[in-house]
Parts: sequence; C-alpha cells; structure tokens
Amino acid sequence: MGGFNKLQHTDIDEFEIITKNAVGVQKETLGRILKENAESEYLLNHGLAGRTDTESFKSCIPLATHKDFESYIQRIADGDSPSSILTTKPITQISLSSGTTQGKPKFIPFNDRILNDTMEIYKTSNAYRHREYPLTRGKGLQLVYAGKQARTKGGVILSTATTHVFSSEEYRKIIHKTHCSPEEVVFGYDFQQSTYCHLLCALLNSDEVEFVFSKFGHSIVQAFRTFEQIWEQLCSDIREGVLSKLITAPAMRTAVSKLLRRPDPDLATSIESKCRNLTDWYGVIPTLFPNSKYVYGILTGAMEPYLNKLRHYAGDLPLVSAYYGASEGWIGACIDPTDPPETATYTILPHIGYFEFIPILKDNQGATSRPVLGIEDLVVGKEYEILITNSAGLYRYNIGDVVRVSGFHNAAPKLKFVCRRNVLLSINIDKNSEKDIQIAVDEVGKVLKSSKCEVVDFTSYADRSSQPGHYVVFLEINGKASERVLEECATCMDLSFLDAGYLSSRKTNGIGALEIRVVRNGTFGKILDHYTSAGAAVSQFKTPRCIGAANEKVLDILTAGVEDRYFSNAFK
Ligand code: AMP
Repeated sequence: MGGFNKLQHTDIDEFEIITKNAVGVQKETLGRILKENAESEYLLNHGLAGRTDTESFKSCIPLATHKDFESYIQRIADGDSPSSILTTKPITQISLSSGTTQGKPKFIPFNDRILNDTMEIYKTSNAYRHREYPLTRGKGLQLVYAGKQARTKGGVILSTATTHVFSSEEYRKIIHKTHCSPEEVVFGYDFQQSTYCHLLCALLNSDEVEFVFSKFGHSIVQAFRTFEQIWEQLCSDIREGVLSKLITAPAMRTAVSKLLRRPDPDLATSIESKCRNLTDWYGVIPTLFPNSKYVYGILTGAMEPYLNKLRHYAGDLPLVSAYYGASEGWIGACIDPTDPPETATYTILPHIGYFEFIPILKDNQGATSRPVLGIEDLVVGKEYEILITNSAGLYRYNIGDVVRVSGFHNAAPKLKFVCRRNVLLSINIDKNSEKDIQIAVDEVGKVLKSSKCEVVDFTSYADRSSQPGHYVVFLEINGKASERVLEECATCMDLSFLDAGYLSSRKTNGIGALEIRVVRNGTFGKILDHYTSAGAAVSQFKTPRCIGAANEKVLDILTAGVEDRYFSNAFK
C-alpha cells in the first residue's frame, strides 16, 4: 500500500513542476513535435523547412479541420508511401472517430506517442484521484469493451482509439492489475456477454471492488440497468458454479468459467438478499461492493443527462470525472476529483501536445479575424474553440469543441467542457451534423419514391425523455405511404447514420431505435410562421435541422402536428 501511494505523490510532484512551467513546456513540446516530423511532407509542403520555433510554425502552418487532413490520411490508409506524409516515422494505426461532416466515420492517425499520452493522462488523473480517495489494491469493476481491429487496404491497423489503447501491452498490464475481469471479457466482442461477465467477475470479488469505471458514464448506467434484469441469473451461476449458457464466446466462456470454479451458495444468497432489500435499486453499487469509494468516467458534456440515474445507482458514493480528449488526442485530466461533474474541469497536460485557442465571439462579430491564442493568452471566464497539434501528424487541428477557461493550475489552464461546435444531433458519444441528417433523409427519399411520395420538409430531435435516448426525425410527406414503407424508412434512416459513435451506441443499445414522426401537411409552414412572427426574414429562413431542448415552441408545433410514429427495426 505504501508503494502504491508513494507513486501517486511522485506523479503529482512531477505534474506540479510541469504545470509551473506550462508555457515553456508548450514551446518545448511543439519544438519536439516539429523536430521529429521535420521530414514529413505536410510540414515541408507548408514551407516550415525544418524550423521548430513557434513563430515560424504559426506563420507557415494553416489552421485546419479534418477535411484538410483527409486526403493525407487516406493515402496513409491506402499504403501510399506510409512514412513521411504527416509524420517522419510511419503511421501504422488509424483510429475511427465519429464523423460529423460527411456521414461517415473519420480516419485519425494514431501512434505510440498517442499511446504514451494516454498513459500520461491516466497517470495524472489517477494520482490526484488516489490522493483524495486512497485505494488499497486498486481493483475495480471496469466496464471496458474493446472493438475488433481491421486492416485498411494498405495494411494499416484500423479500430477505435480506445481499442488501440486496450490492445497495447501497456493496457493489458493495467487490465491484469486493476480489472476484476480477465482480458478475455474486455476482448469478448459481444457487448451483452461482456457486460454479463464484467458484472459476474466483480460479484465474485465483491470485497475487492474499490471503484466502478467506464470511459463514458452512460455505460455504467446501462450495465446496472442490465443488472436489474439479470441479477437472479448471475446469482444462480454463482450458486451452481456454472456459467450461464448465454455466454457463448469461447475464450470469454473459458476464462470466466475458471473464475467460477466451485459452487458458492453463501455468496449467492448474500447477493440475493442485498438485491431484495434495495428500494428501486437505489445505492446498488455500494450495496454490492461495500468497499467501493467512487464511480468514475467521463461524466460531463453529453453524459450529463445520465447523471441522475448514475447518482441513483451510486447512492452516497461520489461521481468523479476522469479526463478530456478525443480520438484526435488527449487534452486534460481532472485533478480536482471532489468536484461534481456539473462543475468539473480538466487541466491541460502541457507536455502531450501543443494547444491553441480561438475565442468565441458573441454574435459572431469579427469572426473573420479572430486571433489564435496560446495558453498564456487565455482569459478566465472566456470561451474558446480548441486546436491541437499532436505527435501523430495533426497540426493546428480544430477538434470542434467549445471550452471555457475556469482558472489555472499553476500556469496550465483548467478547461470546462461547454459543447461541441456545429454538431446538431447527439445522444451520447455520437455526433451528427446537418449534413449527416440530410444524407439520411435523402436515403428515405429514395424509399418513398417507390410509393410516389416525397419529403416536403424535415427536422430532428434527440429524445432523452426515456432511456435509452433515441433520434426522432419529424417528416412532412407529400402523398400517402403505407405503414410498411414508413417502417422501412425508419430502418433505412437508422442505418444511414454512419458515425462510429452512433453505430457503436446503436449496437449496444446505448441509443434506442430511430423513430420517424410523420407530421400533418402544413406543420413546417407553422414553424416558418413562428420564426417570421418573431422577426426573422423569410428570404433568409432556414428550417432548423435539429431542435434543441431549449426550442420548446418549435417542438410544441411539431408535436401538435404528429399523425403517426414509426420505429426502426435495425440492430435487433
Ligand atoms: P471521439 O473522438 O469520438 O472520441 O469523441 C471525442 C469528443 O467527445 C470530444 O471532442 C468531446 O466532444 C467529447 N468528450 C470527450 N471527453 C469529454 C469530457 N471529459 N467531457 C465532455 N465531452 C467530452
């Protein structure tokens, strides 16, 4: 135990030194990235010519979005001269991120440097969390799920960023030391079966569980909703010492069966009586795991709608925020673990990337000449878009988030996540832009054509009124389509959203079946009336393609016009 806690102190001391000199460290980090990649086509083409200073970087390298990198990354994926395109060393892994612009997942370069950054983020957030909530052995119910890896036609390994991390030697060691489940459960490739086994393994070691974790908080909610359904089966497995027949994935079955080993009727009876004594599952986590100290994961931003349910399951345990980043790179760690998710902030790690900020201006005034700032220029209370330059070949890349500076830890800014910029439809980790919605509606138009119908107008809404949340698309249709055709439309639309976050959430039921609500003819006209009566110009009017919760009036107009509802049959 002494060693465990001593390690945390060293990590904190190290982070204190780094953040005291955050501005200098940023400069050094940028210099290192530019030096390492001086031979890359991207930097050479933009005229950097081996220079590594901040001023040359800012004057030569343009601000960018994913679109600007797409052709470079595609060439890497295709195996076209794998080295020296974005980085001097070859990129051998590509992450699939949720796409926002073109209705398809984005390719993002990944390499060992990003893996190291991941370990740095873990180390820092663990150090501060363990200082507040010391652990004895450090084991938890970790609801971690790896996806499958594939190869691009050029032989580059392709998977989500988290799967790259989980598949690494470094993470496998973490699984061994800190997970209750064996790695076969993490790599079970069947979400339902893995959830079952994660819960079972934790119950078998219930006194050892000191925390509950998942990367995004909604997976914890989902796991305990599942627990409500399957607890008797889990108890029966423990009583008999035999794993349920529902677990068919061979490696996972073998590994978990080994842990069950012998019948344990006492443990089964004790879990059963705890479950029976709970009222509406309040406090199920500390009840099952009496030595648990907290529940943690990414709990901010799109995860906030899940906090009520999470608090219900967590009872009196604190909810602790983990870190902030994206497939494009890590940004910061939560070093104030006692802050509730509603006020959680993330302190930038100045040594893992170079960060720049573009101020958000009220009413878009002066949008064309917004300055690009370094960490030293940030003002507390102001909001910014954030740009990343990382070690895997992204330079001045706008990740599309808006953050607010809530203060500084030494000289490192503390960021509060505000929202995603330009993202319209989102339930949890998914992101869909106006373009993505348009593509899905275009597909529906093709289906409707067979019934001689067409889409007059449409908008969308992320309905979180029941769990899991789901997409609702309001359609006004010209003509009369049959029930069968409209159900086909809902299924077709559901399958048209290709962003990785949506697909993975749909597959795991983190997002429910897409719903089409057909509205009466003239409903969208009433929306136009509503806007124009509030002063909007008809010539400039654009139907909002996604209705936010704040836009109650428009939602009321749509709801009043609903004639019929149809649900997708996809992902069953
Ligand atoms: P992805 O690239 O699919 O991993 O999604 C990354 C996005 O998830 C970020 O750009 C944020 O919008 C969101 N995200 C990640 N971490 C957090 C966090 N701690 N709080 C709020 N949103 C987050």
